[in-house]
Amino acid sequence: MKYTLIHRDDDVSVQITKQFYQLTQQHGLIKDEASPDLVISIGGDGTLLEAFHANQHRLDQVAFLGIHTGHLGFYADWHPNELEELVHLMSTEPFKTTEYPLLEIKITADSENLAFLALNEFTVKNIEKTLVMKVKINNDDFEMFRGDGLCISTPSGSTGYNKSLGGAVIHPKLESIQISEMASINNRVYRTVGAPLLLPKHHHIDLFPQNKGEVGVTIDHLHRQINNIQSIQCKVAEDKIRFARYRPFPFWKRVRDSFIDNQHLD
Ligand code: NAD
Repeated sequence: MKYTLIHRDDDVSVQITKQFYQLTQQHGLIKDEASPDLVISIGGDGTLLEAFHANQHRLDQVAFLGIHTGHLGFYADWHPNELEELVHLMSTEPFKTTEYPLLEIKITADSENLAFLALNEFTVKNIEKTLVMKVKINNDDFEMFRGDGLCISTPSGSTGYNKSLGGAVIHPKLESIQISEMASINNRVYRTVGAPLLLPKHHHIDLFPQNKGEVGVTIDHLHRQINNIQSIQCKVAEDKIRFARYRPFPFWKRVRDSFIDNQHLD
């Protein structure tokens, strides 16, 4: 079992990382950045997002596992006081995996064509002026969006930014993307659907910003300003992310632990 590791730079995460290295050495586990089986993140969900983006060229070869050093993370679901148990499992048991869908984004701009994968979501927003975007679904005109922006999320990202925008929480077995609005303008003149939309696999949404100049986009924790975007296409990606599971951690339990209560209610 070969692993690689990415950690957050705060004192607690650095300390837990040292402990992790000591334990893995004792158990004869090899750190191999070139061809790992397992990508470990130590920090928060943001650290796992970083690990995903650093390893997205080899998604078919690696599985991810997150250790949280702050409050319980949605992806980072191992507690630091479980390090010994985890390293023991890593050295004695093959891991099972669970796959989650990803979002593919293709952006055509004046000077560049860009392609991204997102684990949580893609957002397009304009904070200075109302963002105006023609929206097509499967090549058919759908609406002319006016407002702050749109968020297009994966099922596992549905509990992130999307949830704050009033989107639904979607189980990752539903291979889909969700489009949620940010402060759309709706009056007698301008009209949007005004509800989150769920698109299944093989459907796609195209956005055509009407604003000239720079528009802000985010891909998970990453942010970019892009000049004169002509079109943006989003759909369920062919690639998936695999998470290593040494024990069951059902999605709905994770939702309850993250948002309702992490004490057992029995
Ligand atoms: P971060 O790492 O500080 O994360 C912000 C919060 O989002 C943390 O509490 C994190 O645990 C939580 N989070 C991240 N992914 C999640 C998920 N899939 N389900 C539930 N909670 C999740 O911030 P960052 O690194 O700048 O951004 C990472 C993510 O933060 C983005 O992908 C987005 O989902 C989220 N975010 C949320 C809002 C919002 O809710 N208003 C705004 C911006 C970003």
